Amino acid sequence: MTIYDDLGIRRIINANATLTRLGGSLMPPEVLAAMREAAACFVDLAELQRRAGERLAALTHNEAAYISSGAAAGLALATAACVTGPNADLVTRFPHLDGLKNEVVVHRTQRNGYDYAVRQTGVRLVEIGSVEGTRAADLEAAIHERTAAVFWFAGALTTPADLPLPEVIRIAHARGVPVVVDAAAQLPPVSNLWDFTRQGVDLALFSGGKDLRGPQSSGLVLGRRDLIEACRLHGNPNQAIGRPMKVGKEEMLGLLAAVERYLALDHDARAQFCEAAVQCWCDALNPVAGVAAERAFPNEAGQPLPRCRVTFDPSILGQTRDDVLRRLMEGDPAVSAAPAGDDGIFLNPMTLEAGEDTLVLNRLLAVLRTSA
Ligand SMILES: *Cc1c(COP(=O)(O)O)cnc(C)c1O
Repeated sequence: MTIYDDLGIRRIINANATLTRLGGSLMPPEVLAAMREAAACFVDLAELQRRAGERLAALTHNEAAYISSGAAAGLALATAACVTGPNADLVTRFPHLDGLKNEVVVHRTQRNGYDYAVRQTGVRLVEIGSVEGTRAADLEAAIHERTAAVFWFAGALTTPADLPLPEVIRIAHARGVPVVVDAAAQLPPVSNLWDFTRQGVDLALFSGGKDLRGPQSSGLVLGRRDLIEACRLHGNPNQAIGRPMKVGKEEMLGLLAAVERYLALDHDARAQFCEAAVQCWCDALNPVAGVAAERAFPNEAGQPLPRCRVTFDPSILGQTRDDVLRRLMEGDPAVSAAPAGDDGIFLNPMTLEAGEDTLVLNRLLAVLRTSA
């Protein structure tokens, strides 16, 4: 990979997760081919966004679809769409939203770094509930005429204390308020592309650059036609809040190719690859003194794929979790793994290419067999 060598950039084997700071995911050949073809001529960008959106909506069994520059951009656009609806006169009001629907309701337990993308539009977050629990009455009391939407963060960001999503949808819809689900990392299962909206969610947001393996700067907004039209009003190339979140023709067609690939993917075979990798890691690591390895399920974002949890006894091994993580990253190629509690790491097969599972194992065994 001379283009990286030229810059003195080391290759990283990603046994961690679809993390933006590591480059998200790797684009398969069909995605790259679509981007290359898309780059070769001028088109009307708004028309392409609309056509690609129609195709994506049909493929994912949704009423309408919009391509954003990522799930975080989707959060900002979905927020703006819920504030204004498809009313072009309100588009340039951001971020000064006095007199408009300028509040978004969210479970306190689901607050997370990505909700900055909601707040940056100018709306105020209204928190409901606590770790002790959230009652239907809490949501009912939080909704009034200034409520733009209720946001829900799916997967590992949902806690058992939260109101069930169907209950949230029922209460919000009874008051005419849309429900938006951040499902950025909620693939697999592929059925999530339609299950959230079939449940009644008004907009569901996904990253294009995570398990879909589309362009890193792409995302999917799926759902209600009027709200998708509102996303268009706020999005590039219009001079609006979404203008800095530009999506190019290459990303649009790259994401479309990625979704087509993902729908046709043999998800069972993929899950078997992950299970086999985890089994192989456990078998090879458990005999090492001071090391215990086991299958962990589901994985970090709550997707139904296994990881391997490897725990260390520093008094026997002579190394701590941080020693192991650091030494894995110092190698060439570097290996990125996630911490697991104070005394262990997770190895994730989800982001590995065929053969890299062995490479990761051999690098870890080399680290464990030599002292820090
Ligand atoms: C990854 C992630 C995002 C951001 O997605 P991008 O496509 O990188 O913008 C937002 N929300 C959650 C819950 C995520 O996991």
